Order: sequence, then C-alpha cells, then structure tokens
Amino acid sequence: EAPLHNHFIRQIVAEDRASGKHGGAVATRFPPEPNGYLHIGHAKSICLNFGIAEEFGGRCNLRFDDTNPTKEDIEYVESIQQDVRWLGFEWNELRHASDYFEVFYRCAEKLIRDGKAFVCDLSAEEVRAYRGTLTEAGRNSPFRDRSVEENLDLLQRMRAGEFPDGARTVRVKIDMSSGNINLRDPAIYRIRHVEHQNTGNAWCIYPMYDYAHCISDAVEGITHSLCTLEFEDHRPLYEWCLREIDLPNHPELVAGLAERGLGAQPSTPQQIEFSRLNLDFTVMSKRKLMTLVEEKLVDGWDDPRMPTLSGVRRRGFPPRAIRLLCERIGVTKQNSVIEFSVLEGCVREELDANAARRLAVIDPLKLVIDNLPEGHGETLTFSNHPKNEAFGTRAVPFSRELWIEREDFMEVPPKGFHRLVPGGEVRLRGVGIVKCERLEKDADGTVTAVHCSLDAETRPGLAGADRKVKGTIHWVSAAHAVAAEIRLYDRLFNVADPDDDSDGKTYRDHLNPDSKRVVQGWVEPAAAGAAAETAFQFERLGFFVADRYDHSAGKPVFNRAVTLRDSWAK
Ligand code: ATP
Ligand code: MG
Ligand code: MG
Repeated sequence: EAPLHNHFIRQIVAEDRASGKHGGAVATRFPPEPNGYLHIGHAKSICLNFGIAEEFGGRCNLRFDDTNPTKEDIEYVESIQQDVRWLGFEWNELRHASDYFEVFYRCAEKLIRDGKAFVCDLSAEEVRAYRGTLTEAGRNSPFRDRSVEENLDLLQRMRAGEFPDGARTVRVKIDMSSGNINLRDPAIYRIRHVEHQNTGNAWCIYPMYDYAHCISDAVEGITHSLCTLEFEDHRPLYEWCLREIDLPNHPELVAGLAERGLGAQPSTPQQIEFSRLNLDFTVMSKRKLMTLVEEKLVDGWDDPRMPTLSGVRRRGFPPRAIRLLCERIGVTKQNSVIEFSVLEGCVREELDANAARRLAVIDPLKLVIDNLPEGHGETLTFSNHPKNEAFGTRAVPFSRELWIEREDFMEVPPKGFHRLVPGGEVRLRGVGIVKCERLEKDADGTVTAVHCSLDAETRPGLAGADRKVKGTIHWVSAAHAVAAEIRLYDRLFNVADPDDDSDGKTYRDHLNPDSKRVVQGWVEPAAAGAAAETAFQFERLGFFVADRYDHSAGKPVFNRAVTLRDSWAK
C-alpha cells in the first residue's frame, strides 16, 4: 500500500538515504519503558519506527528502556513484545538499555578525562537553587573545577557503593547561563542503592534518561531517533553528549559488546521529534491506566474498554485498523487530539471489509410462524459477505419458532416505525414476508410471543419474493441457536477530555457507568463454533469478536467492538 502522507520524517529519511548520510543506512528503534502496557499512543511510535525501517529497507530494534531500577515487571516485558507482534511488526534485535551499563560508565569516565564532566556534591535542593530560572542564569557548582584525578576517584567510589543515595551526582559541564535549562550542567548519574530487574545488584549508580538514551542509540547504530515533541528541548543535550563522546571514533567504549551478541556499528544518530497521539474520551498516561487497573475500575490492563493495545485487541479492534489510524492521522509537529470516532471509523472500515456476517439476537422475543407445521425444519443458504463472494456461503437452520430482537416489535408503534406491529408485515431476512396475527402476553401484559403467518409466495426465488415491505429484520432459529454471553462495551469515559481537572473533578469522576453491559443472547451455530478472536458482523447489531479468553463453542462469549453507526455523533 502506498503511504498516505509524504510526511516530514519520511522526507528527511528519504533525503538522508539519497545523500548517503549515515552511509545510506536507515536504523530506528522503539524504546518503551517496561513499566506498563502499551497503549494506542505507543502504536503511533511503533508504526512510525517499524514502518520507516520497513519502507527504506532498514532495521528497527525493540529496546527496553530499563535504566530506571524498578521492581520485576516481566509481565510488562512480555506484553510489550506480544503487542508489537500483534500490530504486525517484528524487530531486528531485542535490546535492553541496561545491556549498556558498562558503556555508559566508560563514557562518563571519558567525559571526565576530557574535562567535560565532574562529580558534584551538591544536594538535590542545592542543585535546584544553583540552577537558576527561566529569567535568571544559574551559577556554577563549587565542585565544577575538581581535578580529573579527583573526579575519576570519586566516580569509581560512587560505583563501589561508598556513598549513600543522593550524596553525589555526575554532571556534565555545558553552560549554567544557557537559555535552555536542560543544558545547565545536567546530571548524568545518580546514586541509588536499588536492585535492578536485569542487572541485579551489580550497580548502585544509574544513568539519567537523556544520557543513556543517546548513547544507546549510538551503540545500536541508530540513524534516526524518533521521539515525541516534549524532547525537543532535550535535543541540544542529546547532540552535545554524542559529539563529546564521539562513539564512532572510540571503539574502546563499546569493547566487549560484540562478544555478548550486542554488536553494531556505532552511529551518530539524529533526533527528530513528532507530536504525540492523543485521543478524546480516554486517558492515556500509564499512571492513570495503572490506577484504573489497581483500583479495579476496569477488569485489568486488557479490559476491552482500555486504550491499551491488549485492551483494544480483546475488544475486537483489528491490528490493521490501528495501523490505518496511524497512517491516516499522519506525522506532524502539531499537537492535536484525535476523535475516538476516527478510530472507530477505522475499525468499522476494516471489519466491514473483513468480517463475515452472522445472525444473532441480543434481546430476544419469540416469534412463531403458525402456518408452518410443528417440527418444521429447513436449512437456508446465506452468503457470508454481501460485498465479497470470496467469503462463500453457510448453512443457517430455520424452523417454526424463532428469536427476533424485542425492539423490532412494537404493539403501539410511533409514527415511522417500519418493523413488526400487530396486523403488520415485515420481511424476515432470507425467509420471506411474515404478518403479525396475534400476541401472547404474561400477567403483566408484557408480550412474550408474536404469532405470525408466512406468505409462502415471498420465499426467495419465488414470484412474490420482490414484494415490497418497509422493514427487514433478523432472527435465529430458537431450537438451533446457541445461548451466548454478549458483552456490550461503550466508551469508558463520558466526557471528551477526562484529563481536564480544572473543575475539581478528575478522570475517575467521568467514568461512563454504562460502559459495560452483559446480556444473554442467542447466536446461530456458525457463530458459536468460531475460534476465539474471530470477528463477525452480527447483522443490524454491530461488529463483535469471540472473546480471546472466555469464548468456547459450548459457551460462546462475544464482545461488541463497535456499533454499525456512530451513536456518539452530535
Ligand atoms: P506514558 O506517558 O504513557 O508513560 P511514555 O512516553 O513514558 O508514555 P514509554 O514507554 O517511554 O512511555 O514510550 C515508548 C515510546 O513510545 C517513546 O518513544 C514515546 O515517545 C512513545 N510514545 C508514548 N506515548 C506516545 C503517544 N501518545 N504518541 C506517540 N508516541 C508515544
Ligand atoms: Mg518514557
Ligand atoms: Mg512514562
């Protein structure tokens, strides 16, 4: 498929390749922090990084950005890999930033030897005071002029664990009067006596994000380091570190990596920022998603209402729909909020083309065809897709007693109601025209069955088949249909911007109480027998997916991915 937008990143990469910059190579990476599940926002970065590599015959690494010592989170590490693959991408190599801890350390030694870094004894509070403000230049740390020997000695002792947390940092010497506060001698190392999930207790000093990220990129030979806009002000630091460390000309800094299977030709990557993907009617920060899970406001990270990739997967959104969204919104430097309905539109488009049709009734009312004999049974042939013959046909059992949708009958209809009414006619999909002759009611007056007569002349293929009636309704054979749990999902929040807390309310106050409704319905046998994760259009009802975990042929469970039309449209 041809790209929709020749966006600025595509253009930069194409020009760089043409001009032979980076030796004509294209290498990108997707660098998640394994501290939560991936969400639709991440999908934009995944599609961009893997997509650019694919398009230009380059490579893309999956790199766990695990420089922050955190508790064991193997669950996140596994879900991230699964989600990237589900989206349809495969990484060139799987790396961990923590693979490079020794490299980061050697780079710090080099910076010290070159007089570009120093060990600083100021406390966090003092560092803040020295840093200055937007309008006021900062002041040099009193430790800035330490000798190289003293700095190297202190660095080594930091590593050896001689000092408590927070006692010292390593800082680079850039410019305390810079207009860009990120350049006011930022810290590159801090002391934290914490176990790391990958390196255990080998380290008690950990590198800061900006420092570790640019070196990791260079070590892996990344050419284009694509990141979100909030890193724009960090780019000068990214470039400063790479220039001063000069990895391509200092192979001793990466010595030993190749032997551990972590080799690559070091590069001088170029950072390019793009705007984040934001969606309305949802929250996308990992912290808030984590809260929803921990407080059991949803049923886990993969709850079908969650904007996580595992959530939308379980909801029945196909990976191609997510990729279509990312392609459609393009890549720019303008921050914007994409309407959730745009995502749902992509889902409808994909499922309309690729989901087979089935019959299901989610709020059943009995319909009896009185002029068919007791025990009458037939097998009808239905096409699986109205617009694509390749989907073939299937057998649908038909009999005298059917389930129809309760809302398709009204005893006292409003004007313009074109479905079944007392004395009125309607077409039963694929069967013919029935006329409502009489009703059965319970003691409360609730209609419990609709008795009809079938006009035999209107059966498909007969002379009367084209006779016009206003409505067509769907049905399933009561004797053959399989009872199914149907989960009707809707948006998790009922306001467009749940993050907006300016009125004192938080996102928790905006949870949509109707976002999940579970009903008992009936599905035709050909739906019940589907494999988990098969998507269908239940005719007239919407697109549904057989639940990834709970569905079985004997006990079908279907999740509504999306309705046929946008019910939130203004
Ligand atoms: P969060 O704020 O949700 O915790 P994060 O940026 O801290 O997100 P990471 O795991 O560090 O999460 O993200 C991995 C990559 O995905 C980063 O390169 C980041 O820029 C990108 N990314 C994260 N969120 C979005 C988004 N909403 N749109 C586009 N890219 C994103
Ligand atoms: Mg991050
Ligand atoms: Mg984060």
